Amino acid sequence: MKFVSKALVAVAAAATLMSGVALTGAAMAQDKGSIGIAMPTKSSARWISDGNSMVEQFTEAGYEADLQYAEDDIPNQLAQIENMITKGVDVLVIAAIDGTTLSNALENAAASGIKVIAYDRLIRDSGDVDYYATFDNFKVGVQQATSLVNGLKERFGDGPYNVELFGGSPDDNNAYFFYDGAMSVLQPLIDDGTIVIQSGQMGMDTVGTLRWDGAVAQSRMDNLLSAHYTDKQLHGALSPYDGLSIGILSSLKGVGYGSGDLKMPIVTGQDAEVPSVKSILAGEQYSTVFKDTRELARVTVGMVDALLGGGEPEINDTTTYDNGVKVVPSYLLEPVSVDASNWEEILIGSGYYTADQVK
Ligand code: BGC
Repeated sequence: MKFVSKALVAVAAAATLMSGVALTGAAMAQDKGSIGIAMPTKSSARWISDGNSMVEQFTEAGYEADLQYAEDDIPNQLAQIENMITKGVDVLVIAAIDGTTLSNALENAAASGIKVIAYDRLIRDSGDVDYYATFDNFKVGVQQATSLVNGLKERFGDGPYNVELFGGSPDDNNAYFFYDGAMSVLQPLIDDGTIVIQSGQMGMDTVGTLRWDGAVAQSRMDNLLSAHYTDKQLHGALSPYDGLSIGILSSLKGVGYGSGDLKMPIVTGQDAEVPSVKSILAGEQYSTVFKDTRELARVTVGMVDALLGGGEPEINDTTTYDNGVKVVPSYLLEPVSVDASNWEEILIGSGYYTADQVK
């Protein structure tokens, strides 16, 4: 084994000598700096796409990228970030698991001159966050609720409709924006009686789902159905993320929704993950919200280029994202509502998926 690896090293060294010019070019291309990318988890496909897109785009732009996933474990993510700081990266790009736990680490980053970009999720309670690249999170909620209301009319005619609400993880700042965006559409309909929340469960402190865990949403739906819907029909569930939607749909199918006369309630989602796109095509999940992770990576690479090149990153929002210490200058991308009527154009047409992937 030793001999083989030595031989390989010798071959590589010879290749280096022979193609000196090309390799110098490559080495120079890698000289623009090193980027530490901390992503929350591989359990959801969207973060894998985010990570892959960033590594690809940062490498192409001439940076070295160190990508780490923390499997939704807060101390693990903290350790990864601290390690990146010790290694001396030039910029940290962080999608935080818990947006409130990084203040000390980021103080150290700032002391070492490391710039910090909050990626998709706002990092709270820290003055050391330089920029925020994300989607218009309030609009995501508006789109989810609008699609829910359209679906309710389409599938169940005129109201009143029985609906239950699900929220995202209470330690993720985005969850509040999704919820508030959705409630900006739903609250007037709840007030005028068009939508009835039979459980009475409302507000992020009651409907939040820690760590965006689909199993938690599924068991909450089980409980709601047995406590409030044994003699009533549920018509819709506001779900802020595809992983929750799949759990909610399992619970609904478990008590017979979607078969016989019991129509499937309208269930929303987010991220256009493959199982949910398949579910939409099968007539189960009603909709999702597509956020093009390639675009978010592009915006982030652009921010880094500007930061390290002495320029000003492009931003389009300087008022919305107050993290408790400062308003973080942000670039917000546009989310797109996707359902059975437009999935092909949006998801296949944009090259995000191939038709085979969602069959
Ligand atoms: C992201 C969503 C995602 C959720 C769960 C949020 O912070 O913005 O796209 O569905 O986390 O991973």
